[in-house]
Amino acid sequence: MRTLIRDARLVVTMDDARRRIPGGYVVVDGETIAEVGAGEPPPSVNAGRTIDARGKVVLPGLVNTHHHLPQTLTRNIPRVQEAPLFTWLTELYELWRGTTADAVDAAARVGLGELLLTGCTTTTDHLYLFPRGEERLIDVEIAAARDLGIRFHPTRGSMSRGRSLGGLPPDDVVQDEGTILEDSRRLIREHHDPRPGAMTRIALAPCSPFSVTDDLMRRTADLAREHGVRLHTHLAETLDEDAYCLQMYGCRPVEYLRRLGWLGSDVWLAHCVHLSADEARLFGETGTGVAHCPSSNFRLGSGTAPVRALLAAGAPVGLGVDGSASNDSSNMLAEARQALLAHRTGADASRWITAEESLWMATRGGARCLGRDDIGALAPGQAADLILVETRRLSYAGASSDLLAALVFTPFPEPVHTVMVNGRIVVDGGELVGVDVEALVARADRIAESMLDRASRETGRDYRSRR
Ligand SMILES: [Zn+2]
Repeated sequence: MRTLIRDARLVVTMDDARRRIPGGYVVVDGETIAEVGAGEPPPSVNAGRTIDARGKVVLPGLVNTHHHLPQTLTRNIPRVQEAPLFTWLTELYELWRGTTADAVDAAARVGLGELLLTGCTTTTDHLYLFPRGEERLIDVEIAAARDLGIRFHPTRGSMSRGRSLGGLPPDDVVQDEGTILEDSRRLIREHHDPRPGAMTRIALAPCSPFSVTDDLMRRTADLAREHGVRLHTHLAETLDEDAYCLQMYGCRPVEYLRRLGWLGSDVWLAHCVHLSADEARLFGETGTGVAHCPSSNFRLGSGTAPVRALLAAGAPVGLGVDGSASNDSSNMLAEARQALLAHRTGADASRWITAEESLWMATRGGARCLGRDDIGALAPGQAADLILVETRRLSYAGASSDLLAALVFTPFPEPVHTVMVNGRIVVDGGELVGVDVEALVARADRIAESMLDRASRETGRDYRSRR
């Protein structure tokens, strides 16, 4: 079926021409975009469905490059509200070890729903903690993503370096290498779709230098390259990680990855806060991507990634909301605003990024991180992933001189009006289609409470208190 989206207040293409079309239209044919234009659409469009876009900005769906959906049930935990990364993780492993398939299903629906309502049409996820007996959690997430209709790149995360091997996590939440690699193979076999327009693609994602052995890093890279899937991990997030790598591996994190063969155009890395100028250039030369997560980096006091240097070097840079234990929401438009503000904390204006650059990272930059040239822009042949933002609102009154910038400068006030993914409308009138939100929230709260009870009981610490 053909869909005509017409009379938009503004169409923002984010294609190479970076067109902004007042009074524009978009024609969708099935699962792809057929036409983008200005003014009155030609009668030959012959649409079966017409969407009135008056008062709305139409732009490509946003791409989220880093998340941990299960954390949606462990937001703003009192014990770690003021904790830096290593303390935060050590406390939260005790909560996360109580994760079940039911918890992941509820958490994924909450997080994916929030992403859709804030304009995100493609997201990744990084799930790396598999409690014993709960080995199929990524399959649960994939089913939830299919239900909600979001394009999904889950990564098979892993931890193999427990405390007895000098790592940060407790030994009973890490897995052995054979189990990890076997399950990675299974997920690729059962779920990875390499075709253009794919709704599900798998990537492999050992968790971090302080929770994974170098041997697993190497073997994971070999497996990914054998199957043509991408690689992801956390890197250079904190100065504690720098110190850890110097002590454990005798070099800083980027050099550690370089030695392992983990820099390249099939790799994207979360955070990359602590990079030298040479390291940023190396990312550009090798095409290594970065998931920039400014809210999380502020929340945990980690710092701000050198995004201006990475962009200047030509490295792919996308935006990531990161997990909800360090954000604490899955709001993509808010993340674009945070990216705008994050680089303005110092006096050096040469590091500032513009609203258009922030939206570029949230669309094209993210698509490049995920290795996709079929999403992130409104142009013929692209997947039909697009969003309509209602601008006839008090928040946007007086902002008509630059509506694209207004979407980033204005604190995001309310849900995106319409979201289409792969030609299917999944948010309509600011509501998720086919989701009972009240029941979902009640279910998520119930499971979150039981996780707090369990962790408090097992550790003797009160997870509802600040101490
Ligand atoms: Zn993360």
